[in-house]
Amino acid sequence: MLLILMYHRINNPELFCSFIENISQNHPVVLPGDALQKGELSICLTFDDGYFDFYHYVFPFLLQKNIKAVLGVPVKFIMEKTIVNKDARLNVPYDEAMRGDVYKQKAPFCTWHEIKEMAESGFVKLASHSKNHVNLAQGDYDLDDEIIGSKKAIEKIISHEVDTFIYPYGKVDNKVHSFATQHYKYLMRIGSALNRDWHNSNNMLYRVNGDEFLHMKHFNKIHLFKYYLKYLSNIIRKK
Ligand SMILES: [Zn+2]
Repeated sequence: MLLILMYHRINNPELFCSFIENISQNHPVVLPGDALQKGELSICLTFDDGYFDFYHYVFPFLLQKNIKAVLGVPVKFIMEKTIVNKDARLNVPYDEAMRGDVYKQKAPFCTWHEIKEMAESGFVKLASHSKNHVNLAQGDYDLDDEIIGSKKAIEKIISHEVDTFIYPYGKVDNKVHSFATQHYKYLMRIGSALNRDWHNSNNMLYRVNGDEFLHMKHFNKIHLFKYYLKYLSNIIRKK
């Protein structure tokens, strides 16, 4: 069984690090495609949007503790480099970061330099999180550019294939999903369910909001019961 935790901003780094250290001592922490051990709950850590706090707080912690994670990169918001100081970058409110030109003026997201360094460390696996962070289930957008263009842009700066895509806002329809499966092996949305393995039956991986566990020392079956029920319901509905 596989639990994929989803994070965005890291509001309490101390609490976050202590939680991740605890679960990593009790569960295998895996990346997409890693072998899953039978009878064990494996955990995959995913971080959406590439906020600078990931580079500042999480990346050094991953290196120190030998833990790996997935970073979903929304290509448009990533700048080559920046001269904005770290406190200003860390203090951009979550709901402002993607507004207008804020990403250029205040650099709340990681830069390509930082992303390249993290990818080359071997501890951070990059995923595409689309080009413009659009809702792929509605509206007018260039599907090729969001799915394929974003992948190519990330592959330009790293030396291996990007095989994971995280749907922005967790939104997708059947048409977009079947197109995306032609270009990526692992496709993630929200969904609040456990997963059978890396592919389920519909090639969709479901994630659970990691922030709700932050105050816990360990998972137990009661904490995960509702996500297990959703998993069973997905199996019955062949999802
Ligand atoms: Zn996002």
